Order: sequence, then C-alpha cells, then structure tokens
Amino acid sequence: MRREIIEKLRQRLEDDSLKIAIIPHISADGDAAGACSALWQVFDRVGKQARVLTCDYFPDYLKWLKRLPDAISFQKHPGECAKWLQEAGMLCMIDHNTFTREGDLEPFTRHFQGDVLMIDHHPDPIEVAYRFSDTRVSSTCELLYLLVTRLWGKEIINADIANALYTGITTDTGGFSHNSSNPRTYRVVAELLALGLDKDQVFDRLYQRNTLSRLRLEGHCLLNKMTIEEPYPLAIIPITLQELEEFHFKDGDLEGVVNMPLSIEEILVSVQVTERKERVKFSFRSKGEIPVNIWARHFFNGGGHRNAAGGQLDLPLDVCLKKLRESAAWFFSEYVNNTPL
Ligand code: 5GP
Ligand code: MN
Repeated sequence: MRREIIEKLRQRLEDDSLKIAIIPHISADGDAAGACSALWQVFDRVGKQARVLTCDYFPDYLKWLKRLPDAISFQKHPGECAKWLQEAGMLCMIDHNTFTREGDLEPFTRHFQGDVLMIDHHPDPIEVAYRFSDTRVSSTCELLYLLVTRLWGKEIINADIANALYTGITTDTGGFSHNSSNPRTYRVVAELLALGLDKDQVFDRLYQRNTLSRLRLEGHCLLNKMTIEEPYPLAIIPITLQELEEFHFKDGDLEGVVNMPLSIEEILVSVQVTERKERVKFSFRSKGEIPVNIWARHFFNGGGHRNAAGGQLDLPLDVCLKKLRESAAWFFSEYVNNTPL
C-alpha cells in the first residue's frame, strides 16, 4: 500500500460532514460481509457517518456479524438507498472491482458524484480515486485489516471487528486451504487473536449451524446430481429451481458444495449450475494453475479468481448446460494439460 494514497485518504476522512456508503457485491459471501461489518464498525468507532447498502440481502448464516442487520437493502428500501448515495461523498466498493457486481444499485453507483474507495483482491480493477486492490492477499478482509490499522493503529480493532475480519479470511481461503501461502496472512490472524478474535466462535457460527434440509440438499447434489464429464477431469452439478424449493433452499445453503468434487484426485475442475428465479448462476472451481475465471468470462458473463469464479446467463437451464459442455472442449484444450481422465 502506497503511503501517499493512505495519507490522501486520511485527509479526506477528516471531513466531519462526510457521509459514506459501503457496498458489497451481489450475493455477498463471507469476505464481502465480514469486510462490510468490520468497516462499518470501524467507521462507528472513529465517528464517521456510514451505512452499508446492499442490492440484495446478506445470507442468514452471516447475519450474526455485528451491524449487518442494519444494512439497507435496495430491494426493500430503494428510496433510502438512492437518497444516501446522493448525500454520500464516498462510496466504498468492497470485495469487487466493477460497478457491474452491484446488481440493481449499479445505475445509481455508476454515476456516483463523490470519491470511490475500492478495497478488493480481484484481477482487473477499474480506476477509482482511492484504490486498494491486491490479488496477492488472501481476502478483502486481510487487506482491510492492513488498511485500517495503518490509518488508526491496532487499537481500532476490537473483538467484534476481529471476528468479522477473520470470517472473511477463513471463508475466502476455504479454511486456509487455498490462497493462503503468504506468511503475512497468518501474522494478521495472530494479531487478530491478540486483539480478541474468538476463532472457535466464528467456526461455530459458520460451520455448525447446519439445518437438516441443507445437509440433505448437499447429499442430493452429490448422490443424484453430480456428473463426471469424461473425457475431461470435470464435474458438473446442475440444480433446478424445483429442487431448491423441495429442500427449502435459503441463500448460502449451497455454499461449499461446488468444492466437494475437487476432493476426488482426478477431478481438476468443478462447476455448479444453479437455476434461480432471475437467471442461471454458474460457480467454477479449479485446482492448481487452471484459470476458470477465463472460462467464466468468455462464455458466462462472469469472472473472478483463477481458482474460484462465477457467472450467469439469462437462458433456460438445459441451454446453459449445453453451452457449458460445448465450451468445455475449448477450455480444456486451451488451458488444461493432461485433458483425458
Ligand atoms: P461463487 O462461485 O462463490 O459465487 O463466486 C466465486 C467468485 O467468483 C467470487 O468470489 C467472485 O470473485 C467471482 N464471481 C462470481 N460471480 C461472478 C460474476 O457474475 N461476475 C464476476 N466478474 N465475478 C463473479
Ligand atoms: Mn473475496
């Protein structure tokens, strides 16, 4: 992080009249939600007027994060969101790097008059006034920790903020299984522990609040839905809207399912294709050097990280699956060695 930009940000934040909008990406995950919770609490502590605005809703499994229940959803309160964006002098773009990831808020944020502060770790960020973007960090939460402690010292972090930041670090690395080989990540976690992080409580909140229907949905996906797409080292899990309803699906219920096929040695890429009310959502995961974000970008209006990417299409599920299977030939021949199983 460059010193000049931190100093410029420090000065901008000295303006007592400054109102701030904090915005996560659509379908916020643990990293986006953890960072929004942490940043809002930090702004509370330093006396800044901030609000978190979402284009949809935070999933139930992350609602325990402090302050998130107070977030304003555009789906429920469009007028209030628009008003705050009009009054705000700063927009914090959290865990994403283009306005296109802000769903129905995009028409408002795209023409935002104030300064944009980006805190993110995805490739290809847009140009903004205050850009903190680094693909080498484990998570947006790790980067946010580095930024706020540079601005206000470690004292600014209390136990609730530490829990929120750790939520992003642990979820975005799959419990320290990927994107987590930099020693600094563990130094940040060690500091968070010293600052009050209750890591067992976070684990309990994230991973020990399963419901029977969620567990059954997971089982159904693996037993009845997953296919192996020979000759490719590829697993596909298609899920219909009807199945989601059958298993009383709530947002977040399928979190992690797409990773499971990768536990098979020969499987190098896994794709979950989920039929939602609005459109079909794709989740891509891969091992090693395989860049699934390229596949997501070329065919599915998406993008993301090398090993975890997503996209969507406004087409029927069977058409989406056909497109996926057809484009697999191109993707595996271009980007994956040892293609046949
Ligand atoms: P997930 O599969 O968990 O929904 O998404 C994995 C990652 O892919 C996210 O962290 C995000 O970086 C990226 N991603 C998901 N959906 C999209 C999308 O529609 N567009 C872009 N650019 N990235 C996405
Ligand atoms: Mn992230």
